[in-house]
Amino acid sequence: MSISKYQFPTLIFSGTGARKEIISFLKEKNIKRPLLVTDQGLVTLPIFKNYFSFLQSSGFDPQVYSGVKGNPVESQVIHGTQSFHEQKADAIIGFGGGAALDVAKAIALMTFHPGNLFDYEDGLTNGRPVDQKIPPLFALPTTAGTGSEVGRSSVISDDLTHQKKIIFSPRILPKVVFADPELTQDLPSQVTATTGLDALTHLIEAFLAQGEHPICDGIALEGIRLVSQSLETCVKTPHHLQARKDLLDAAMMGAIAFQKGLGLVHSCAHSLSTVCDLHHGLANGIMLPFALEHNLSAVPEKFTRMANAAGLSNVNPEDFLSWIRDLKTKVQCPTTLCEVGVDESHLEKLVEFAFTDGCHPSGPRPVTKADFENIFKKALR
Ligand SMILES: [Zn+2]
Repeated sequence: MSISKYQFPTLIFSGTGARKEIISFLKEKNIKRPLLVTDQGLVTLPIFKNYFSFLQSSGFDPQVYSGVKGNPVESQVIHGTQSFHEQKADAIIGFGGGAALDVAKAIALMTFHPGNLFDYEDGLTNGRPVDQKIPPLFALPTTAGTGSEVGRSSVISDDLTHQKKIIFSPRILPKVVFADPELTQDLPSQVTATTGLDALTHLIEAFLAQGEHPICDGIALEGIRLVSQSLETCVKTPHHLQARKDLLDAAMMGAIAFQKGLGLVHSCAHSLSTVCDLHHGLANGIMLPFALEHNLSAVPEKFTRMANAAGLSNVNPEDFLSWIRDLKTKVQCPTTLCEVGVDESHLEKLVEFAFTDGCHPSGPRPVTKADFENIFKKALR
């Protein structure tokens, strides 16, 4: 029997008003000037301004780095790290969606570590060790999707090549997460839908990934249940705080569960982002039923269990795919790739990139280039 490894270390405050719980942690660590890391759009919005004022009125002198935009690139991390030192900050608070949180984590790493960010890339043969001090790091997610707030990696692209690189270390995991549904209630419905579908994809692919991991499997199934009862409500009734909380929890559960692995849906989505610059959640949402079908014959019993988790009873395994198609319609996610400007001319590159992606080998059934070609062709129709 092989030995499994389980780790779930993050302290999480989840619920309305959770963002205010940060005060006691800042005081306990004698933090005076936390650097808020956020994106260009968010910094102008009331949710950010109000939080900044809240920290000020609680006796702190918060600083701001708001250079995060699009898919985060290395230069944003360099500027954020400079900002930390120039503003004499003493802690980092990531405030935003996956991009802002990934940049916050990378800044935390580079604050006291020598060399360049990509010297710390995961899997590098001569990579530098993560052995220096890391400033106190907190996270406040404003989307329910990537779950970066509970993840050990930060995905940052090269400025020139746009190649995505993964920085991985348990030490860049935020110490405390404040998941407050009030921070997500004003998201545009399309962002709620696509980030939510990304979270659902994490939960499904984690559950289907090979390997013995009953804890992750349990978390994934409960996460699917939470998505099934919250995503449509969040899209149609944006200020429904219980649904917002359920979706935030589900997104964190997805990121916790996918330490087990992901699968071919993510390989398709990564390829669509690289080749066609498609939003990650949107790409996952479109590809989900087409790509998952590939796994149906390998693990039909798992599809039945996911269908049950989504609230369906007396079902066939393929009913889970119908449930996903229905959910996509309800949250107004495009059905096919054609609707978002992808066409046959992209096919060859899409297949090439998807096949070289590192996610699909974790799945329950091998995927060949011909399989990817079939899957993309079906999704294009
Ligand atoms: Zn994802």
